[in-house]
Amino acid sequence: MANGAGVREQTLVLIKPDGLSKSLTGNILTRLSETKLEIAATKCLHVSRELAEEHYKALRQKPFFEEVIKYIMGEYHPRKKVMAMVYVGPDAIQKVRSVTGATNPEEADSVTIRGQYGRITTKGVYENVIHASASLEEAEREIKLWFQPNEIIYDLYPTKEIEVKEKKRVWAKGPNSAILSTPKFQSSTKKTKA
Ligand code: UDP
Ligand code: MG
Repeated sequence: MANGAGVREQTLVLIKPDGLSKSLTGNILTRLSETKLEIAATKCLHVSRELAEEHYKALRQKPFFEEVIKYIMGEYHPRKKVMAMVYVGPDAIQKVRSVTGATNPEEADSVTIRGQYGRITTKGVYENVIHASASLEEAEREIKLWFQPNEIIYDLYPTKEIEVKEKKRVWAKGPNSAILSTPKFQSSTKKTKA
């Protein structure tokens, strides 16, 4: 349930691979800014099958489950990534859901994001360009799934400190030229010693 009555909430928003592939990021952010909510975290990421299945675990029994997993993993779009964000502010859940629109883009009000930019594919998947948490409980589960505490500028939920020994990827020293333009960039997993 959402709080209502102006209580400060947080909600997870994902711009899905169709939104990114159609270069709708700016349009979607502009629509979201109508809510006057604040962005507390943002990142672009490739979605693993594990993350996709966990995110949509409530839909596991649905006939369209596999298609929805492939969709959020970017298997149907050239930009195989999502942009994940946390929005915070009064009645955040209802405000974002309302500008997002109905799940089925053909039923969504035409002034909503899904009504404006969504479509139903020939396979029957609702490519509705955006995800938004539907309740406080869902928001908590989803925010904790997609973000680590130190990726969010506010302490939204209780945290604890643990000791970890981990390998970490850092920027390499030296005069590096950008690797983005080289063909190796897409497939390279080679790491340079710092
Ligand atoms: N979906 C679909 N067909 C359906 C129901 C859902 O393709 O009949 C997809 C759609 O992309 C939707 C996602 O599965 O956004 C998650 O479904 P949910 O019922 O949680 O809708 P939402 O909360 O996204 O409005
Ligand atoms: Mg949902």
